[in-house]
Amino acid sequence: MSERFDVVVAGAGTAGAYASYLLAKAGFKVALLESKSGGEIGVKTCGDGLGLHHVERMSRHITPNPKVFQNRIEGVELISPDERTRLLIRGEGYVLDRFGWGKWLVEEAVRAGAALYEGHTATSPIVENGSVVGVKAVERRTGAAKEFRAKVVIDSSGSAAVLRTKLLGWLISEPLHPEDVSHAYREILYVEEPLENPQYIKIYLDMTVAPGGYWWIFPRNATMLNVGLGIWGVLKQNPRTNYDQYILPRFRVKSKYHIGGGFIPTRRPLKSLVGNGIVALGDAAAAVNPIHGGGIGQALLSAELSSKVITKAFEVGDFSEKTLWEYNLLYMKEWGYRQAQLDVLRLMLQTLDNDDLNFGLSRKILTEDEIYHLAAKGTNISLTDKFRVMMQFIGRPGLLRKLSTSIQYAKEIGDLYLAYPSDRSGLERWHAQVVAKYNEYREKIGLGPLPAA
Ligand SMILES: Cc1cc2nc3c(=O)[nH]c(=O)nc-3n(C[C@H](O)[C@H](O)[C@H](O)COP(=O)(O)OP(=O)(O)OC[C@H]3O[C@@H](n4cnc5c(N)ncnc54)[C@H](O)[C@@H]3O)c2cc1C
Repeated sequence: MSERFDVVVAGAGTAGAYASYLLAKAGFKVALLESKSGGEIGVKTCGDGLGLHHVERMSRHITPNPKVFQNRIEGVELISPDERTRLLIRGEGYVLDRFGWGKWLVEEAVRAGAALYEGHTATSPIVENGSVVGVKAVERRTGAAKEFRAKVVIDSSGSAAVLRTKLLGWLISEPLHPEDVSHAYREILYVEEPLENPQYIKIYLDMTVAPGGYWWIFPRNATMLNVGLGIWGVLKQNPRTNYDQYILPRFRVKSKYHIGGGFIPTRRPLKSLVGNGIVALGDAAAAVNPIHGGGIGQALLSAELSSKVITKAFEVGDFSEKTLWEYNLLYMKEWGYRQAQLDVLRLMLQTLDNDDLNFGLSRKILTEDEIYHLAAKGTNISLTDKFRVMMQFIGRPGLLRKLSTSIQYAKEIGDLYLAYPSDRSGLERWHAQVVAKYNEYREKIGLGPLPAA
């Protein structure tokens, strides 16, 4: 069986559901394929935190459902490994009723006119004459094989990126190296003792508990807590083991609402998010913030930007990589360059140990405002007060060198991403510059060259 659509979207998470909503609202015939079915639709293992600025941006296109914003957050409490330093970093946001959020977005897509195929697993792209022209899928209940044909296919299947990774030899198929992912595990707990200050999400830096990452408490309210951790993928450690050993014993647990794990791409942007007839969004496009692993906002952003470009492609009747390339340009300009900057800092943070972190946080090497700016927006911070910084680093010249080197390279690599080539012809040259700059930086902070994926 083969059905024809304007756009086929594989994966009804935040990215796929929002893109389906936007495109269906714009009048396109959209098929939204989702492996899950029934009450499972919208269920996602996540920390459930979302910055206010993402919600505000989304509100330009859709009225958010207030019911899914479970806890209004005023900021982040950043806690040192020895737990002696607790920095309060401003920054508004929400802890979501994540399942409610996911379900609501899919409902909005359907209300806008998208056809939802639940219980349908996309298995591979259909490629004809060098272009993706549809998706092969299996209906899980019956085992029936189906084909969904379209002018444009969207891979929004999450971190597994089931479609783009099958396009071997295409730019868009770039695989993820274990260095480029975080392995995460979290539980949503009902606890006996109310959490202090539940208007602040808590981020604990501790390289024993969460090597190359952090562990967190994101409160839905004072006694319902999303608690989890992420560990750098290259270390090949099971985050659940550390969760059970170090984190869970800290709570008097009444019951558990949901448990689960997953992996999160935490890296620089992919070389390209487009190919002939296909674009990738959200986790499938590795669009996540590499410092904190938050990707809901980027799932929304990538859906918005790609929908704009897909709409234009229909106007000109051309769905080739050349036309869809504009999505790369918009992405790199809006977020990709900052993603790259944050990736540079991520690599530096992953080389620190608990002593460095205790020292750095207790001496306020960066102020709360600077940390907020770095984590949320990129490295446009002024370190003009060099003297203050130098003084604080007395006794830790190595750390000072690492930090200032990282800030310098973050700026340079971010600038390279801002100069992303306007078409494919410039890509290989540009990419060689990125790799060279990364390798120069990596050598300076004691990492080897970029690994081949
Ligand atoms: C433990 C953990 C904690 C996190 N905490 C946060 C946080 O606090 N804040 C934040 O912003 N981000 C967080 N993230 C990241 C965030 O969850 C993702 O970046 C975001 O959900 C990405 O959305 P997406 O739509 O791209 O992918 P997903 O939400 O993963 O959606 C992909 C969808 O595709 C479906 N699918 C997969 N394969 C197929 C297939 N073959 N055919 C059809 N359908 C398919 C899946 O069922 C799913 O519904 C966390 C992630 C994890 C794992």
